[in-house]
Amino acid sequence: MIVVMKQHSSAEQVEAVVKRVEELGYKVHLSRGEARTIIGIIGADDYLIQQDTFEVLDGVEKTVRIMQPYKYASRDFTQSSTSIPVNGISVGGEKIVVMAGPCSVESREQILETAHAVKEAGGSVLRGGAFKPRSSPYSFQGLGEDGLKFLAEAREQTGLPIITEVMSSEDIELVGDYTDIFQIGARNNQNYPLLKAVGKTSKPVFLKRGISGTIQELLMGAEYILSNGNMQVMVCERGIRTYETATRNTFDINAIPVLKQLTHLPVVADPAHGTGQWEFVGPIAKASVAAGADALMIEVHPNPSKAWSDGAQSLTFKRFGALMDELRTIASAVGRQI
Ligand code: PEP
Ligand code: MN
Repeated sequence: MIVVMKQHSSAEQVEAVVKRVEELGYKVHLSRGEARTIIGIIGADDYLIQQDTFEVLDGVEKTVRIMQPYKYASRDFTQSSTSIPVNGISVGGEKIVVMAGPCSVESREQILETAHAVKEAGGSVLRGGAFKPRSSPYSFQGLGEDGLKFLAEAREQTGLPIITEVMSSEDIELVGDYTDIFQIGARNNQNYPLLKAVGKTSKPVFLKRGISGTIQELLMGAEYILSNGNMQVMVCERGIRTYETATRNTFDINAIPVLKQLTHLPVVADPAHGTGQWEFVGPIAKASVAAGADALMIEVHPNPSKAWSDGAQSLTFKRFGALMDELRTIASAVGRQI
């Protein structure tokens, strides 16, 4: 349930409502908008609360029941879009953030070279996997801590913040020593112990939609992180499994405006995993910007044909640079910048 305060309600009136919510044993989520304050009430059985419990209090305009199972993630709870500061940049603001880099960190030279190319083309975050969730146990599993060290060196040289995947709770401390953003991969959208554990950290979390996950399951994953205290969550559409086999996944373009409507969290599009083929990355990246995405994640590699993972969906530096130019045009057409 949310309690909507009157436009000119006083701080004391807000305080009295908060006190009453807490007395009843529920958690409070305060959202102070420009026009009015909204008090979110969070608890497993908040549907049991009588609406007039709050409507009789001074300064209260109305109460509204929230039908979605996610609360902190919901736009009903926080109406203004959230932007997340990451080392001097902001994800979820007017500027569309492009996160780019190889699927896997393969060597020091590879990540340094890519980092400089990403920066030169106008990318704002460097991506690269050091712990890789591979479908086969016989495939390259990532360089582990060495990969994290190379990423940190690339950050030092370019100033680009870094994002890398954490696959298990035991690795959070190690990965957190290096990364600026924790990436939670599609396979872990519903790994609740991992989500709770990153929810207890204070670093931004980038959560991908499950391979066959619904939008609601994505938002419930985000809710696990948010309800554990970490309010810096971005959600990512990365394609889902459908009956279509012409592409690796089916990028759900609908998810972009749907997520923007349902949640205040920044929405990211990953057209690389969404399509699986570099030729389609540009069109879907452009469509995502046009549809309202706040950020893009794009795989870029110095030599995609030699990549240790996801070469087929990786852009060369040249193709990435050309795409960035096209994206600038699309961004300005929808009133944003890249
Ligand atoms: C990745 O970003 O390289 C990755 C493994 O993505 P996903 O979790 O979406 O498959
Ligand atoms: Mn990949």
